[in-house]
Amino acid sequence: MMAGCTLNARSTQRLEGVHPDLVAVVLRAAELTETPFQVVEGLRTLERQRQYVRQGASRTLKSRHLTGHAVDVAPWIGPDFDWDNEGGYRQIWAAFKAASTELRIPLEWGGNWRGFCDMPHMQLPWLQYPTGSNSKPRNERDLIAAGSRTVRAAHCAPYWSSDNRRRRDCRCAGEL
Ligand SMILES: [Zn+2]
Repeated sequence: MMAGCTLNARSTQRLEGVHPDLVAVVLRAAELTETPFQVVEGLRTLERQRQYVRQGASRTLKSRHLTGHAVDVAPWIGPDFDWDNEGGYRQIWAAFKAASTELRIPLEWGGNWRGFCDMPHMQLPWLQYPTGSNSKPRNERDLIAAGSRTVRAAHCAPYWSSDNRRRRDCRCAGEL
């Protein structure tokens, strides 16, 4: 069985500031995955998030990326990401899920979100990994109500651009 991938220097750099539990899952998933992946983005500064909002690329300041509780990963066929490889995203999620179970670290995949799936997005759940005392949304409905729907041209648009049907079915521009 062909499995595993080596995270490149850029990916490793992008894991800086990410919660150690999530880093552990990423590293284990990299060993297990049948589709090689690299890290697109990890910790996001508030300044950068504000920039996304100003540009209309995001509508929320409550992204889990801001606190190091989320990473975006995508299939990798060096020297670039294989944005359109939907099967690849699913294999990557299978590896993350296996790593999550093995390490007993709960994990959520943006690809499972109804209505606004976000295939590159992996995050530690709010429930088990809360942040700021009064900023914890209770459930998906609250998250959406809080405006946690963003448009990430950087990773979602390229992924969906070649599949207009899916773009309509699934607003993959969404991200928490
Ligand atoms: Zn994300």
